[in-house]
Amino acid sequence: AAFDKIYHIEELMSDYDPNSMLSKVNQNAFQEPVPVNTELFEVLAVSKSYSALSDGAFDITIGPIVQLWRKAKEDGMAPSADALKKAQDNVGYQSLILNPEKQTVQFAKKGMLLDLGGIAKGYAIDKAIQVLKAARVKGAMVDIGGDLRCFGAPANGVKHWLIGLQDPTNKGNVLLTLKMDDMAVATSGDYQRYVMVEDKKHSHIIDPATADSADNLSSVTLIAPTAMSADALATAVSVIGNEKGLELINAIENTEAILIS
Ligand code: ADP
Ligand code: MG
Repeated sequence: AAFDKIYHIEELMSDYDPNSMLSKVNQNAFQEPVPVNTELFEVLAVSKSYSALSDGAFDITIGPIVQLWRKAKEDGMAPSADALKKAQDNVGYQSLILNPEKQTVQFAKKGMLLDLGGIAKGYAIDKAIQVLKAARVKGAMVDIGGDLRCFGAPANGVKHWLIGLQDPTNKGNVLLTLKMDDMAVATSGDYQRYVMVEDKKHSHIIDPATADSADNLSSVTLIAPTAMSADALATAVSVIGNEKGLELINAIENTEAILIS
């Protein structure tokens, strides 16, 4: 049931699948308000709140720039400054219009594209955990590609969930081990998913302010009560950087971060 939930959310929110509910929004939301289901609406609304909280560092309207960098990977050539500038004009969470009564989404600008890559994984983890808790499972860990959430205790009398933090420069090396009970952990970094363009490594995380990849930190790990907040905040802090990123995290209750420069 937990896996079904995860697949269901992927079906709704993937931007690779042209038939996903998110893709329908991307195709039609400039022409008219597009009705979405409760799950997608929730993720869009929460995403906007993280944009406000992070001063625009986290922004799901980043789609047009992400598309250019994805294409750059195929072409082996960086996007032109002109193309980036044009894409950047269509980025901005303020142009994402959500109507909670009608549960619809609309774009204020033509050429807008939503990309939930920085938050949907966390949401899917939370939903899977919800399914497991509702089924009265005593303890579980749900891990999607290194982002995870756990509750209860592992089997065989082990007291805590042990989570190793990988060294970004040496995969085989565990830098430290976290002891977790009922918490979520998410890591954003440039060491596993990046784009090599013209011999330069570009993170897949984009700074909306510059339209360039955010390469300040090589790994950002967030520990938070929900996987969705850990996921979104890890992406946000990757953009914001060391100093201001820690300021942001220190202002949020029950949330900690481990940054590796
Ligand atoms: P990972 O997928 O490695 O866990 P993240 O959670 O940081 O890493 O998500 C990165 C993805 O988020 C990118 O591939 C892209 O789809 C999207 N993204 C890139 N930049 C931003 C941004 N500034 N705000 C929100 N989402 C972003
Ligand atoms: Mg993220």
